[in-house]
Amino acid sequence: MAKVIDSKIPAGPVPEKWKEYKAHQRLVNPKNKLKLDVIVVGTGLAGASAAASLGEMGFNVINLCIQDSPRRAHSIAAQGGINAAKCYQNDGDSVYRLFYDTVKGGDYRAREANVYRLAEVSNNIIDQCVAQGVPFAREYGGMLANRSFGGAQVSRTFYAKGQTGQQLLLGAYSSLSCQVQAGKVKLYTRYEMEDVVIVDGRARGIIAKNLTTGKLERFSANAVVIATGGYGNTYFLSTNAMGCNCTAAVQCYRKGAYFANPSYVQIHPTCIPVHGDKQSKLTLMSESLRNDGRIWVPKKIEDAKALQAGTKQGWEIPEEDRDYYLERRYPAFGNLVPRDVASRAAKERCDKGFGVNNTGLAVFLDFSESINRLGIDIVMQRYGNLFEMYQEITDVFPGEKANVINGVQYYKPMMIFPAVHYTMGGIWVDYELQTSIPGLFAIGECNFSDHGANRLGASALMQGLADGYFVLPYTIQNYLADQAVWPKVSTDLPEFAEAEKKVDAEMDRLLNIKGKRSVDSIHKELGHIMWEYVGMGRTAEGLKTGLKKMHELEKEFDTNLFVPGTKEGLNIELDKAIHLRDFFTMGQLVAFDALSRNESCGGHFREEYQTEEGEAKRDDENYFYVGCWEYQGKGNEPTLIKEPLEYEAIKVQTRNYKN
Ligand SMILES: Cc1cc2nc3c(=O)[nH]c(=O)nc-3n(C[C@H](O)[C@H](O)[C@H](O)COP(=O)(O)OP(=O)(O)OC[C@H]3O[C@@H](n4cnc5c(N)ncnc54)[C@H](O)[C@@H]3O)c2cc1C
Repeated sequence: MAKVIDSKIPAGPVPEKWKEYKAHQRLVNPKNKLKLDVIVVGTGLAGASAAASLGEMGFNVINLCIQDSPRRAHSIAAQGGINAAKCYQNDGDSVYRLFYDTVKGGDYRAREANVYRLAEVSNNIIDQCVAQGVPFAREYGGMLANRSFGGAQVSRTFYAKGQTGQQLLLGAYSSLSCQVQAGKVKLYTRYEMEDVVIVDGRARGIIAKNLTTGKLERFSANAVVIATGGYGNTYFLSTNAMGCNCTAAVQCYRKGAYFANPSYVQIHPTCIPVHGDKQSKLTLMSESLRNDGRIWVPKKIEDAKALQAGTKQGWEIPEEDRDYYLERRYPAFGNLVPRDVASRAAKERCDKGFGVNNTGLAVFLDFSESINRLGIDIVMQRYGNLFEMYQEITDVFPGEKANVINGVQYYKPMMIFPAVHYTMGGIWVDYELQTSIPGLFAIGECNFSDHGANRLGASALMQGLADGYFVLPYTIQNYLADQAVWPKVSTDLPEFAEAEKKVDAEMDRLLNIKGKRSVDSIHKELGHIMWEYVGMGRTAEGLKTGLKKMHELEKEFDTNLFVPGTKEGLNIELDKAIHLRDFFTMGQLVAFDALSRNESCGGHFREEYQTEEGEAKRDDENYFYVGCWEYQGKGNEPTLIKEPLEYEAIKVQTRNYKN
């Protein structure tokens, strides 16, 4: 029987034992009692905004990232936009509607109260970013422009061409730089957190590796915040940046932080299809393209076969022979259904043989209608950089005239296919964003908090910046309030020494395996297992096979890995090996969670649980909870703990995007 928790873990009183510490003069600087230090790990949108805000509020912030500059955090990749309930289009939007759409988009598996708070602060985020000078797109008259994203029937997405993440990150980075200049934030670039240090049940510091020198360093603080992104790269091929990893989150999990809803992995419908086995990265074509691009496959199987054989091209197929399957199946939302729905629909068509490309694993995203309606200049203004990116990778320009049939001009379409993109699961946090370890907080993509079983487009940036600018800076103070009289602990404590020793020993272990296989070759194999057995369509049997294969491959990793070089100085292969060790833990966790959840919801699709029309079939009676997992040691099944969901404002019902 699983344990049951609720979402409010009180910070609790200062433990008696701390008084002993004072007596033993184990505290760093007893005179400087009000100096409160916070470690923020990560400088993506969540981490940079949190570090800047905490610095501005007077805390001393230690901020670390693995890149050589905060500006290179993965957040920079975000293309399409960020949601807010401003209702600038006068189309009936409101805080409640954004709240409702997000809860519905998450297939009623999000914590309702968190989502309401997110919708409430969404407008402040836009104001904050405009004040920082973020160049959001504007209408001719000067108003901020909007476009639509999946799962919404209003236009509420603010954007800066196809570079929204980059511009938002530059805004956050400028605030962060102010605080660095003011001496409130100390920035450590090319530092990787390897472990969290727990003293008397509270997070009191971290062990980080200086990635340039290879040296381990100890950092202590009154609280630790991790903002280290998602675990999509467990699948090897994903739209995430190559450096994205889940090491910090997995270490926190190993130290006792619950990991929530790991099986909720988002597969994005519009990515450039895989084109060979030498590939290490997939490229996203922003969801914003679905505003004006129409998704289709041929109606006739012989056309699909000709396209796969290369004897026919998409632009040779006339309108009446095209199956705009999303518009056909979901007339109310059409091409703008949520990502999980669009991805499954693409898979269904490809599984039935209607896929295009030489692999049969792709569908068309076509701009012919919008270019004919709006003109190429307007379409380029909206999506120019995305068209160029597509051309650079595939050598096809989607705005190129290709054919005229019955007087209708056709342009070359894009080819797209679903790929792993975002992870809704993450470190469990309470309403204050505190994990199950007091003093340890998690924000941005690395927590599980707001998206339920599926994230709507343009809401990751909203959540990351809500957490960083508007939620954590306030909630963390409820914890820090009782810390004010207890200055940070010394890094000489045995807890730090022990954690450092373990990290060091792990590096020795990996270097000394001296086997024959590279990190990438094993990671790629793990990715295949994940995609095949823990991917878009899951079954109990497949998940069990996947887990078995993962165990076997992990043994191979432990006995036949080859990591060149030493731990001194820069050793990227060693860093990758550490990440892969943690992807194994993560992959198994995703599979355990998927196996335990005998229902389909959002990004978690169990083939045994679907309607006759192939839609996800939830089981609210038995699975209306957040599934939190507690680590039980390597090779052991983790323990499931349930946080029941409570909905007060929204009626839980079956998702409907058809009418
Ligand atoms: C191609 C692409 C396009 C996207 N487009 C959109 C969009 O249009 N709209 C939207 O809302 N969302 C979008 N997303 C999702 C969104 O970009 C991410 O969810 C979001 O940026 C995550 O921000 P974050 O701050 O949580 O993490 P990240 O940006 O991933 O930052 C993680 C930070 O943690 C640091 N870090 C990681 N591990 C360690 C460690 N062990 N030690 C020290 N530092 C560490 C990294 O250096 C980095 O600074 C997109 C995602 C992708 C992949």
